[in-house]
Amino acid sequence: MQPVGQFVPLLLLCLLAVALPGADGASGRFWHLTDLHWDPGYEAAAAAGRPCPSGGERTGPAGPWGSYLCDSPWSLLRSAARAMRDRLATPDFVLWTGDDTPHVPNEQLGEEKVLHIIANLTSLIKETFPGTKVYAAMGNHDFHPKNQFPGKEHRIYNQTAELWRPWLSDASLPLFRAGAFYSEKLPGPGSRGRMVVLNTNLYYDQNDETAGEEDPGGQFQWLEETLTKASRADEMVYIVGHVPPGFFEKKRGKPWFRRGFNERYLAIVQRHHRVIAAQFFGHHHTDSFRMFYSDTGAPINVMFLAPGVTPWKTTLPGVSNGANNPAIRVIDYDQDTLQVLDVVTYYLNLTRANMMSSLPVWEEEYRLTEAFQVPDGSASSMQTVLERIWRDPHYLQLYYEFNSARYDLELCKQECRVDHLCAIREVDFIKIAQSSVSAVMAKSKRKGGGHEIALQCM
Ligand SMILES: [Zn+2]
Ligand SMILES: [Zn+2]
Repeated sequence: MQPVGQFVPLLLLCLLAVALPGADGASGRFWHLTDLHWDPGYEAAAAAGRPCPSGGERTGPAGPWGSYLCDSPWSLLRSAARAMRDRLATPDFVLWTGDDTPHVPNEQLGEEKVLHIIANLTSLIKETFPGTKVYAAMGNHDFHPKNQFPGKEHRIYNQTAELWRPWLSDASLPLFRAGAFYSEKLPGPGSRGRMVVLNTNLYYDQNDETAGEEDPGGQFQWLEETLTKASRADEMVYIVGHVPPGFFEKKRGKPWFRRGFNERYLAIVQRHHRVIAAQFFGHHHTDSFRMFYSDTGAPINVMFLAPGVTPWKTTLPGVSNGANNPAIRVIDYDQDTLQVLDVVTYYLNLTRANMMSSLPVWEEEYRLTEAFQVPDGSASSMQTVLERIWRDPHYLQLYYEFNSARYDLELCKQECRVDHLCAIREVDFIKIAQSSVSAVMAKSKRKGGGHEIALQCM
């Protein structure tokens, strides 16, 4: 072939690559926001000098942008929406992983009020990202009575499906009505990406509706089939949900799923990990991640837990000072393989915001690849992040301060270190118990040497 003839196809190829993002591993970005927990009674209570409804008996200063003892006032949610539009107005899509209502007793809510709150937050997100695809998952607070999600059709599923109809495909609508889970191909021509949105509230141990069931809503079977089909179609999948499997890193041995559900979820990830590019969940209000391993201990998958927008200090017994700064995040990803390239978290220093007379400033908190010196957000890179946190007190402290979006800046000492490392490493109920045994044995054999395996997880 003539030199000219070689040059032209190459040029064409380059032009095509520029013209067709997504066709050749171009990078894209999306927002992940979670746990907005709007407290509609915040302003009236603050004006009357009463504690906010979501604060319960706790009293503290109620600033114009919120309080660490309370769920979000509308001003905070509007500010978060504005910050998202300013930073990235046209993401490829948005993940919204639920929990919209305030932490108040059921008696202060009711079905109508819960739906009213979901409707208001849906409108806010629609207005912030008009025309953008939103993948929304229900949180355990987005139901009445809270947590009591059935594995079958329900009025609240129907009503929520109506609110989210512009975001749901025709095929997703009946699925959502039947159990609030669905799966869709990602937008973009030729995309081989797929989103799987789960209703893991069905597995929550506070849910009495599904307690005795083996596969509530048939969701596990559906998930297995969906992942099998995705594999055959050469697709890559993101799994999205609210309540995550595994343990809460701020309270040792505190799981959310019932045991059998946790094991089943884990087995599915192990069996199908090759098509799962990553998992994105909420519920903790904290910034952390979870590692998934093969039977031989190889890191095979990662779940990113996004920090919440609500700063609400948890009332969970055994957790001290469990509040956080409001946070939102952008994921950079490869549009072809769905590989996570980076995670950029933005936060609002609520204390500072409440002292200023100007509009609050949401700052970039950190960029995963820079802060932890890894090339991307793959499972093997996140294993490196885990090892850095494990071995190097500098990285442990960095991780710990990000965990509450820089609300809690105390030193993370031994107990704290074990809580976090065990939760990140052991999603498995059985393994977390065993790891205490192996840790004790390893410790006595090495006579205190090799601190990296001296972890007592239970
Ligand atoms: Zn929440
Ligand atoms: Zn939740």
